Amino acid sequence: MKAAVYKGKQRFEIEEIPTPSPGPEQVLVKVHFCAICGTDVHAFLYDIAPPGTVLGHEFAGEVVEVGSTVTKWQVGDRVIGGGGDPPPGQESPTRSHPRYNYRTMGFPEGSIRGYAEFVLMEEWQPILIPDGITDEEAAMCEPTAVAVHAVRNSDLKLGDSVAIIGAGPIGLLTLQSAKAAGASAVYVSEIAPERARVALDLGADAVINPLEQELQTEIDALTDGRGPNIVFDCAGFPSTLDQAFNVVRHTGQVVLVAVPWEELPLKPVDWMAREISFKASWGSLPGDWHRAMDLMSSGRLTVKPLIGDVEAIPLEGMQEAFEGLTKPSNELQLVVRP
Ligand SMILES: [Zn+2]
Repeated sequence: MKAAVYKGKQRFEIEEIPTPSPGPEQVLVKVHFCAICGTDVHAFLYDIAPPGTVLGHEFAGEVVEVGSTVTKWQVGDRVIGGGGDPPPGQESPTRSHPRYNYRTMGFPEGSIRGYAEFVLMEEWQPILIPDGITDEEAAMCEPTAVAVHAVRNSDLKLGDSVAIIGAGPIGLLTLQSAKAAGASAVYVSEIAPERARVALDLGADAVINPLEQELQTEIDALTDGRGPNIVFDCAGFPSTLDQAFNVVRHTGQVVLVAVPWEELPLKPVDWMAREISFKASWGSLPGDWHRAMDLMSSGRLTVKPLIGDVEAIPLEGMQEAFEGLTKPSNELQLVVRP
């Protein structure tokens, strides 16, 4: 099969590698679409993925072969590449390892995921794509689950106000998840005009460009001078976490959703008198994938404006796409079609 193999030093090569064959409890999934995640871009940018790895965890496709004891799936079932409940003992190390470090443990050697024509999965791993959701939309279930997880992980209560820093895919999904969870208003900070426009289309009550306006002044004006109850940092830039602490309300909460790979400057004296709480949110749990699918199926959340009308890129276009994604962009979500 054809795969975009990471070769180290920010290089992908398109190679012919053996098509895996399912063991008794496994299924082989033909990948129809795989969305490019910011964490894949980090693995590329910081050259963290071991050479030989095939990245891509946001994929959807079709079961094409089942192992001899598999009862849950049949050839032709449309599935998302994750979200299933792990049996005892097979939980993700992100949840079970007492000292899990994503930088050093996040990209296991030799894994073959969605930037390939086929992916081998355990029977329990995938979940079914409901009718009415396209394969391309279904590929966005994982990032949607991350946004759902962030909101569920927060102290957000019905009627609270929210600010979201960064309207990339995760910011736009967190915006919609916060609204679905009962936020009274969601204010977004974003510098890219296209992303700002989509945020407004998706229900943002205001979008502020922090390069043109003073974020804290604008947010104060929108919240009677108090600031929002919850601020989600979905950007993770050197300036944004401190910004989040500055704009949040007295005793409010800052939730870090983006994954900053560099040290971030903080000036706690400016905001610590407000006794703010801080929560890191990490990835998602299987239940969040199901909640994400429910939100999509019921129309309370849409991924359509994120994937837009942009043509899915072939594996051969990945090198260029990743190079583009390491620079600030107006782009929303890029999707690969192996
Ligand atoms: Zn992802």
